[in-house]
Amino acid sequence: MSDVQSTGLLYEGKAKSVYTTEHPDELLVVYRDDMTAFNGEKHDIVANKGQLNARACEFFMCLLEETAIITHFLRMVSDTSMLVRKLDMIPLEVVVRNVAAGSLINRYPFTDGQSLDPPIVTFDYKSDERGDPMITPDIIFALGIATAEELDQMKSAALQVNLILRDFFDLSGIILVDFKLEFGRAGEIIYLGDEISMDSMRLWDKETHESLDKDVYRFGKGDVIQAYKTLLDRILPSEG
Ligand code: ADP
Ligand code: UDP
Repeated sequence: MSDVQSTGLLYEGKAKSVYTTEHPDELLVVYRDDMTAFNGEKHDIVANKGQLNARACEFFMCLLEETAIITHFLRMVSDTSMLVRKLDMIPLEVVVRNVAAGSLINRYPFTDGQSLDPPIVTFDYKSDERGDPMITPDIIFALGIATAEELDQMKSAALQVNLILRDFFDLSGIILVDFKLEFGRAGEIIYLGDEISMDSMRLWDKETHESLDKDVYRFGKGDVIQAYKTLLDRILPSEG
């Protein structure tokens, strides 16, 4: 595994494996080809998916690092793995939505594709056993998951990420419908962790509303790898 020696498996998630390294503050994250949806009920191995998502994540983390967003990303180790800063993860999924889709339209009377201005930010409690339920600030405080200040910090970082990514995708004729972020602590600082990729965002072609994200897999809309490649070709034209 290149120049970084893994010293043990720390965590095997649904799509990535996280390894400790000889450096106590750094982890090796390996993007696997496992694809899951509906809380793991649907599962397949999809060749090259790990590599495409790792490349996307590297690109987006670097794009955000050019602004004021502090991320865990340190560097790529291989096509499918990256070195990141070890974080004490906050078990929340911070979701930002510009357009109504997915669970929002299943749970609330929004129409599919309805524009949301201002964007909506919600928090889900990250727990596979409980099906990642939506959580309120009061429950977050009562459970000691995060302080009010930390919650404000995550929300404003998520909205900043939204502005950066939304403008970026718009230039390529792509609508950033929604996305999920995870944050973690290292010392006093809150970093953006986990991943930003086609697995964690909804992206629609501006003209056709064709999905270029994991919805292609979730709802059997076609070849998911082709959709991921099309997306990367559109945003990273020089890579072909
Ligand atoms: P899941 O846990 O949802 O099945 P993954 O397969 O993506 O997800 O596994 C990656 C795991 O690594 C997630 O639990 C995520 O919270 C955690 N993680 C992401 N970034 C870091 C980090 N910098 N430090 C520690 N853990 C991290
Ligand atoms: N999302 C994610 N991981 C999750 C749940 C959601 O990355 O465990 C992303 C999802 O890809 C979408 C956004 O968060 O871009 C909002 O998802 P939603 O709440 O609509 O959930 P879903 O459609 O997955 O039920």
